[in-house]
Amino acid sequence: MGFSEDAAVVVAALARYLEECRARRGPVLRQASMEDVIRELDLVGPVREGGLTGPRLAEFVERYLAHTTRLQHPGYLAHQVAVPPYTGALAALIDALTNNPMAIYEMGPGAASIEHFVLGWLLDKVGWSGAGVPGMPRAGGVLTHGGSLANLTALLAARNRVAPEAWEQGTPSDLVLLAPPQSHYSIARAAGILGIGQRAVRPLEVDGDGRVLPDRLPATLAAVRASGKRVMALVANAGSTGAGLYDPLREIGHFCQEEGIWFHADGAHGASALLSERHRHLLDGVARADSLVWDAHKLLRAPVLCAAVLVRDERTLDGAFREEASYLFHAKVQPGFDFIHRTVECTKAALGLRLYAVVADLGERGLAAYIDGRFALASQAYEYVSDLGDFECAVRPQSNILCFRLRGRSDEAQLAARDRLIAEGEFYVSSAVLKGARFLRIVFMHPETDLGDVRRLVEAVRSAAASRE
Ligand SMILES: *Cc1c(COP(=O)(O)O)cnc(C)c1O
Repeated sequence: MGFSEDAAVVVAALARYLEECRARRGPVLRQASMEDVIRELDLVGPVREGGLTGPRLAEFVERYLAHTTRLQHPGYLAHQVAVPPYTGALAALIDALTNNPMAIYEMGPGAASIEHFVLGWLLDKVGWSGAGVPGMPRAGGVLTHGGSLANLTALLAARNRVAPEAWEQGTPSDLVLLAPPQSHYSIARAAGILGIGQRAVRPLEVDGDGRVLPDRLPATLAAVRASGKRVMALVANAGSTGAGLYDPLREIGHFCQEEGIWFHADGAHGASALLSERHRHLLDGVARADSLVWDAHKLLRAPVLCAAVLVRDERTLDGAFREEASYLFHAKVQPGFDFIHRTVECTKAALGLRLYAVVADLGERGLAAYIDGRFALASQAYEYVSDLGDFECAVRPQSNILCFRLRGRSDEAQLAARDRLIAEGEFYVSSAVLKGARFLRIVFMHPETDLGDVRRLVEAVRSAAASRE
């Protein structure tokens, strides 16, 4: 058996899987114990002798697919991970086989050029220019393996601007990070990793829904300064992980500019709204940010992982890492750019290829229509659920996330309903704590999920809750 034969077997199995998922068959999530999964997949068998090809590979793939979480099923409503079109998956396959770790240009000129190209495309959507405009700094960016690493990278650039000595001498003890309480946990982690410590993350004041109150920023800053601290950066959500809400970026950006504070917009989930005529106003003012994180493996439908760190002035990102590695970094004349100066990673996948394949398949108009459709569905679901009487919603959605709960029931009851729902197999939802209460959380990622699914979900939650009484 060779590559073509085995690939044909794998592709045939995946095609059946995709069809089944899209026909809403199979449990969206089935969790057997790890011991059972390891046994059922017969992981031990082939390890010694090898030979997992041909018919054995075909069997293995079938068994493996039975233990996957079915993101390709329209009942998948749990997390903000892309449901990639097959073209994105093929790009990942091309990348895996060619295996060009393109962070230095000579290890993948095609991949590096594609990364440069897609970064330019993203920068353009922000309103920044990677090509350079007279009187403006040249914008730039890099793709990383995920939004968490992207946030860390952006905040490292921020630290470097505020405390350029930190790279050599360690982080000064007077830096704080301002962030909304609803910021993603990777922000607090970055504070830990960067050595300012998680306690240096100071919460910004927010409204009842968790959105930053821009007119409270001066008081927060005054308190920070009065305590003898310096602001390393101010983080805003575009939008938040829990409920998908957008902070008022224009006002925040204006404040940061006036005060000379590094403004980091975490758009891992929500920056994709920039593609939509209807929704890009949610990001009004984002061009005032110093840095923006934008995950393509969320609403841009690229397979994991593909996250962009974008900066208004590319020199700030070039200054973030100052490393010596004589075998990689030496004066050389080459026709391309080494992204390695801008990333934590040394070896790095051809992430741009995944995103490019999807954009080039669906077109930016197709992607915009997808985003509009998912945002509209969240609004419709909100109207529908809010009218029911036995449910309540946490907030009116601004993007594709809806948080709702059984009215008058405990947090435990919400979680029990979720467990039961998942066990039944038709849906997989997540949960989140908002306004002090546990909500069921649904994220519309699958392009074919519709209001009919929402109605069936509501019925399923009701009967799951009733069965417990
Ligand atoms: C998902 C998310 C992250 C983390 O991104 P990963 O790609 O999962 O590491 C960070 N911030 C926000 C707002 C997110 O939604």
